Amino acid sequence: MQSLDAFAGGKLAALEAKSLRRWLKPTRRHDGAVVERDGRRLISFSCNDYLGLSQHPEVRAAAAEAALNYGAGAAASRLVTGDHPLLGDLEKRLARLKGTEAACVFGSGYLANTGVIPTLVGPGDVIFIDALAHACIWAGAQLSGAKIVKFAHNDVAVLARLLEAERPLARHALVATDGVFSMDGDIAPLDQLSDLCARNDAWLMSDDAHGVGVLAEGRGSAALFPDAEIPLQMGTLSKALGSYGGYLCGSRVVVDLLKTRARTLVYATGLPPASAAAALTSLDIIESQPDLTALPIGKARLFTRRLDLPDAQSPIVPVVLGGAEAALSASAALEAQGFLVVAIRPPTVPEGTARLRVAFNAAHEDADVIRLADAIAALREVFT
Ligand SMILES: *Cc1c(COP(=O)(O)O)cnc(C)c1O
Repeated sequence: MQSLDAFAGGKLAALEAKSLRRWLKPTRRHDGAVVERDGRRLISFSCNDYLGLSQHPEVRAAAAEAALNYGAGAAASRLVTGDHPLLGDLEKRLARLKGTEAACVFGSGYLANTGVIPTLVGPGDVIFIDALAHACIWAGAQLSGAKIVKFAHNDVAVLARLLEAERPLARHALVATDGVFSMDGDIAPLDQLSDLCARNDAWLMSDDAHGVGVLAEGRGSAALFPDAEIPLQMGTLSKALGSYGGYLCGSRVVVDLLKTRARTLVYATGLPPASAAAALTSLDIIESQPDLTALPIGKARLFTRRLDLPDAQSPIVPVVLGGAEAALSASAALEAQGFLVVAIRPPTVPEGTARLRVAFNAAHEDADVIRLADAIAALREVFT
């Protein structure tokens, strides 16, 4: 189809002209936050495997054993024949970690958000979303047909005014936010959001993709706010847990509804047993080694102190450079020095805030963190 290829080619050329084209780069990952590209080994500050568990011998062995014993795939939707008993074991463990009655495992975090939100809200309802929330929360909201109201990032006063204006017009209301913001590394004020939701009969949903395993001895961002009521706690198995998959922790009745109605559970194949087995072993490690869970944020704080930045609140630290081209050039300069720090550009982050997103790992050596900080300090002079 000539018009199709012309469309695709034209769109790519326009993105290229704005430094917004993206490329896949085949990458092998090794122990200790080391990755290999084009035969070169680099120290990665871009993996979300904060505890190195994807490479942990026991986690790998659990995945391999499950694949050998139970097969490579789940073969059907969980509601047909794809509900391997390991998924139920995993749900119990996740609920225990988060202190909820129940949990529901999905094929990925993206599938969790795009399945959960439309199950709970629809036309006639309203969903308030933090401006910097993850793309899959927006995708779930769009699928739901509910009215979407964006609130300024972490701005409780703005949200209070929006709730006052919009809440009475809707049947149900959901407030959705990242617990730890994926591109900024800061934390949502879940206690204040919880108060606002209680006062306005709104349901609070937090996405803890980057909190589980690394905050509050691995329990995640909600555990930093013990008095907050967060009835919908979503997360992923794909980051600090080193596996693949997503989940929602909540009350038994909400989880039962999701298992009956969430389209990304009903109409998608279940999570492979190997992914569940790996995540279960990671949870064992996290629960038995609280010191390990504290390491990534410790490395992040070493970095922020070296650069005179505010103390890191999570293992993610943004170094905002502004233009997409500056971020790409800085990333390339770091790669030449042996560091992999991927440039993050719009539309992943707002226009004019392209950045280096630095993600810290339990396996990083302090000396490498300091070398990276000094290299970035020199680059900041050049690019900002
Ligand atoms: C990565 C991420 C997701 C998606 O999780 P996957 O398991 O990778 O699909 C959802 N929310 C946030 C905040 C994320 O960073």
